[in-house]
Amino acid sequence: MSAPQEKTAQYGGLDLFRILAALLVVAVHTGPLLTVSAQANYLITDILARLAVPFFLAVSGFFLAPGIEKDWHSLRHFFHKVLLLYGISILLYLPLMVRNGYFSGCTPLSLAADLIFNGPFYHLWYFPAAVLGTIIIFLLLRRLGVRGSLAICSLLYLVGLLGDSYYGLSAALPPLNTFYNLLFSCFDYTRNGLFLSPLFLLLGVLLRKHSPRLAAGQYSALLCGGFILLVAEGELVAQFGLPRHDSMYLTLPLCIWPLMRLLCSIKCKSFPAVRTASTVVYVIHPLCIVAVRGGAKALGILSPDGFLLGSSLLHYLAVAAVSLLAALPFALWRQRQRHVQNTPNRLRAWAEIDRSALVHNIGRLTELLPAGCELMAVVKANAYGHGDTLTARVCMENGVKAFAVATLEEGIRLRRTGIRGEILILGWTPPELAQLLSRWHLTQTVVGPEYAQELNHSGCKVKVHLAVDTGMHRLGLAWDDGDGLLAVCRLRRLRVTGMFTHLAFSESLELDAARRTQAQLERFYQAAELVAQSGYGPVALHALSSYGLLNCPPQAGMAYARPGIALYGVLSRPDDQVGTSPGLRPVLSLRAKIARIHSLEPGDCAGYDGAFAPSASARVAAVTIGYADGYPRSLSNGRGRVLIRGKFAPVAGLICMDQLLVDVTGIPEAQEGDTVTLIGQDGEQILTAEEVARDAGTITNELLSRLGERVTRVMIS
Ligand SMILES: *Cc1c(COP(=O)(O)O)cnc(C)c1O
Repeated sequence: MSAPQEKTAQYGGLDLFRILAALLVVAVHTGPLLTVSAQANYLITDILARLAVPFFLAVSGFFLAPGIEKDWHSLRHFFHKVLLLYGISILLYLPLMVRNGYFSGCTPLSLAADLIFNGPFYHLWYFPAAVLGTIIIFLLLRRLGVRGSLAICSLLYLVGLLGDSYYGLSAALPPLNTFYNLLFSCFDYTRNGLFLSPLFLLLGVLLRKHSPRLAAGQYSALLCGGFILLVAEGELVAQFGLPRHDSMYLTLPLCIWPLMRLLCSIKCKSFPAVRTASTVVYVIHPLCIVAVRGGAKALGILSPDGFLLGSSLLHYLAVAAVSLLAALPFALWRQRQRHVQNTPNRLRAWAEIDRSALVHNIGRLTELLPAGCELMAVVKANAYGHGDTLTARVCMENGVKAFAVATLEEGIRLRRTGIRGEILILGWTPPELAQLLSRWHLTQTVVGPEYAQELNHSGCKVKVHLAVDTGMHRLGLAWDDGDGLLAVCRLRRLRVTGMFTHLAFSESLELDAARRTQAQLERFYQAAELVAQSGYGPVALHALSSYGLLNCPPQAGMAYARPGIALYGVLSRPDDQVGTSPGLRPVLSLRAKIARIHSLEPGDCAGYDGAFAPSASARVAAVTIGYADGYPRSLSNGRGRVLIRGKFAPVAGLICMDQLLVDVTGIPEAQEGDTVTLIGQDGEQILTAEEVARDAGTITNELLSRLGERVTRVMIS
């Protein structure tokens, strides 16, 4: 089995399709084929284009999935964004609404219904629908789990269908008729946040939670089948004159599922600029319709039926082009922003923290956990060099509710920056500082029997987890010291809320190591059993760190798993074998700049001690990072390599405190000001943290956790 890494960024396919979906929405509102053939136009705008909104909703669900089942907090960012867009859009359309006389027949009640269900302007219903639908599935998933939620969302969708494409049926049945009359006195359509969006948002969540079972070809076949059914259904309901509106079809979910799978199978980088463009097109295209008509009128090329030169297709193309053109500045701005973020020109040495990789890893590791077991994200040592407050925040936004640190200071820093949930200090804290533990709601590890007494004497109430020594002989009370364990449980001022052990052999898959791990776990369960039977439970049990999680399937009954290094998408060593490879992605890239390039003649030497003394003429570049930044000095004299312009260059001579030299003789195009990659991808090439650590004679954990304070952490997404 290979290292658990996935090297390319994902979901570019979803981004690209968004622009197509936005253009489909434009089609819905312009009817591109109206002057060509009413039939063909119905096919495009009233059937196929109805895929667009469900697709947008499913994509939202897909990206909300990691957090939505856990924590309300993780949705806040999404709500904030959508409601902001909604607010801006309303302001944008206010003049048109006034001109159309919107406010003349408007009551507070109708205004509320419009804001929540109908949208005050005709395409704006999407925003409240996304928010309302998300709230609904969040609540459903909490109360009813996946199956129950799916049942309810399907039922809601069915109710929606009978008020939409199948309205003819309910209109014909008197009891239903009354029900729908009642519904339509509250809102104009059933395609809203109550009936349409929950199902598609949930589909997105499920698509993210479950890995694909079929090959891309099979999903294509399913999608074709879905299309055919959709078209058949659309034609059929039209034939019987059933639709009141045509936003909802029975077969839409059957198309969305394979469509999303297919788009996710396209492995390409994400395009935030395209994402932005599609949103802008969605928001502004009605304005563009007005602009195009106005322009055409002024030029005298608007036909009486409202089309350009009498052609609906020309009209559509003009609106699409104007919308795209208007979206361009926003897309460029977004692109620029990303560019500035990605290559921060004003930085000397920096670590790029890939948010999407971190979110991906959280999702993948969570999938490994049995029911009732949660992730305790280990963010000690500045989150292994990744920046602890930055990392913990992303974890929290994605549903992680428990964190582990090594020291009191680390715990307080997290609290100060607003991290909520459990924070367990895995190491020793001076018992005299117990007051700070309770003041910041931190949980302390009981490192030994005397320590427990001292903590108890401090005079304040402290939440603790009992460390149980099952063979590592580092911290904790001996697993077979029953009296000692119970004595701690009896201490008045300590509240034992958890018990954990640490495995000493979980990094190896060798039989002997596996046996020792098993023995450790059995001892731990015995100790836990004793505490529980003596009436001090239930307490949260945990034992598995990264390798434990990857090498021995977590058992039921564990409250947490404590991965550190795996969360950051790397292993300790490049050739480590692990039992499960969940496809983790490395989160950190380390970069610096070329400050100066010197040409050396034969006989010249460079750096301290003249340690770099090439026999032929050479070029050396001085790079803006050194051992004080955490780049190991042991990589001196060619043991380390860096990437410049997608090519490898060896470290030249001795690494200095703040700088190092590299031999760029083989990269004539290298220039002063170029970005140097010390860990991470540059062009086609990758320098993994595992390789760098190995070359430095250490493990990834040490290399990353030693990255210094002068290295700026930059979040990229
Ligand atoms: C550091 C640490 C972890 C995390 O270890 P990884 O191997 O990085 O996953 C878990 N538990 C304890 C007690 C630790 O000290």
